[in-house]
Amino acid sequence: RTASAYTYPLLIKNLFNAPVVDNPEQEIVYRELRRHDYRAFRRRVCQLAGALQRLGIKAGDTVAVMDYDSHRYLECFFAVPMLGAVLHTVNVRLSPEQILYTIDHAEDDLLLIHADFLPILEAIKGRIDTVKNYILLQDEDSAPASTVAFAGEYEALLEESPTTFDFPEFDENTRATTFYTTGTTGMPKGVYFSHRQLVLHTLGVLAALGTPTSQGRFHQGDVYMPITPMFHVHAWGFPYLATALGIKQVYPGRYAPDTLLELIKDEGVTLSHCVPTILHMLLSHPKIDTIDLSGWKVLIGGAALPQAMCRAALDRGIDIFAGYGMSETCPVLTVAHIGEEDLSADDEVEIRCKTGRPIPLVDLRVVDEELRDVPADGESVGEIVVRAPWLTQGYLKDHRNSETLWRGGYLHTGDVAGMDRKRYVKITDRIKDVIKVGGEWLSSLEVEDILGQHPAVAEVAVIGIVDDKWGERPLALVVPKGDAVPDEKSLVGLVREFIDKGMMSKQALLLKVRLVEEIDKTSVGKINKRVLREKYGQ
Ligand code: ADP
Repeated sequence: RTASAYTYPLLIKNLFNAPVVDNPEQEIVYRELRRHDYRAFRRRVCQLAGALQRLGIKAGDTVAVMDYDSHRYLECFFAVPMLGAVLHTVNVRLSPEQILYTIDHAEDDLLLIHADFLPILEAIKGRIDTVKNYILLQDEDSAPASTVAFAGEYEALLEESPTTFDFPEFDENTRATTFYTTGTTGMPKGVYFSHRQLVLHTLGVLAALGTPTSQGRFHQGDVYMPITPMFHVHAWGFPYLATALGIKQVYPGRYAPDTLLELIKDEGVTLSHCVPTILHMLLSHPKIDTIDLSGWKVLIGGAALPQAMCRAALDRGIDIFAGYGMSETCPVLTVAHIGEEDLSADDEVEIRCKTGRPIPLVDLRVVDEELRDVPADGESVGEIVVRAPWLTQGYLKDHRNSETLWRGGYLHTGDVAGMDRKRYVKITDRIKDVIKVGGEWLSSLEVEDILGQHPAVAEVAVIGIVDDKWGERPLALVVPKGDAVPDEKSLVGLVREFIDKGMMSKQALLLKVRLVEEIDKTSVGKINKRVLREKYGQ
């Protein structure tokens, strides 16, 4: 064999092989309904591949999934791309029309769908052009009433298939996954990732979080449970990472706070990731005081980690820290580290809540409009642009938006941030959420962070509203905590304290406050500022 004949493509199947050898008895758990070991997992992935192949799925086809977070979904994460096909993780919380749009746009050939989502399918099925076969996923034994002609039920199809499968070797640049942005700014846009990208992303996150055997943030003694849906950027890539390490994995199904808390307790979950609003929901659940969460490591991303939430979590012994990424970036770009010695409690909270440092292989810059770096002085702000091995090459079948995304050879995130000398990034806003008061930029996230520390505030979102004199001024939408009612005066007073300490710009004094019962969220549970501006912006 000559050196030139040696190739080792970075394929997802190479993440799949190690755990069965290293940790064959480790468990994969689905709620209270199912648990099996990695050997069974391997057999089931082979059986699923066999079943899909029998139904005509071949390299280059697209297989869509509509399921809760489950062992089945994990099996699809592997079997589908390992066949050379593309896995489309459908966002089940989009509207039926948007779901129809994404299924059509991705040209899905086969759809695996959980019984609970059949009403959505019934509403759109006459208009789906590309799907040739449907597979039913169900948690109960009895078949649901439905007019859809299924090719089969998942477990039955697996049972009919051999427990081994010879997965092919192919080009590492083959597309492995595709999914759609949440459409908070228009119709959902498709992003896509190759085998090589997913493998490198897995290794990049692993390099940032820890080593397999040491006491890194993620190691073989951990028990992993996602609290970010598997349709949302592959649950941030963690199922691939957890499988590659061969650690115990717990899949919670639908996100009911009760179930989540019980699984954390009963299964001994030590590592999760979620958006702040979901953690807020758990921390304010009546059962929270009966459950010991100390030692639980939680990566918060998708939105800024508020300092008040960070403190509340630390008080419960949770090792909470921020990370940053987006659908377009696979997603992880930065992670907040607590590697520094002798931090005061306040400094530690500040660092945990910062957006973090770029993880290995991520070339992240904060730039002005001419793509020149702004000074890394912790004060100057600009747009985050990025290059890394795992970014989407563009939007699926959308040349115009792809060019805008990648102008100047960097992926433009649309996020405004500053960077300090130690390369800590701090996002202050999305470009479209910045509040422009008399020509000056006011960071909505910073005002939110301050107001969130008021004892009578349960949740808060700050948006810009039209103002005759200033162009825009900040409006805080506040959900009161319990019976306490925060008034405008005390909230503005709190903001003033930060202004006096030089930690907030004076424009924040123009704050208006409006009490609301709830704050609108996106399909992945983040604060939806577009809707809030539509409702309250005038
Ligand atoms: P959507 O655009 O619908 O929210 P994404 O999940 O792709 O979908 O969101 C990515 C965006 O979330 C980023 O561009 C950024 O604005 C925001 N974001 C993610 N992580 C953080 C963070 N740690 N701090 C502040 N904003 C964040």
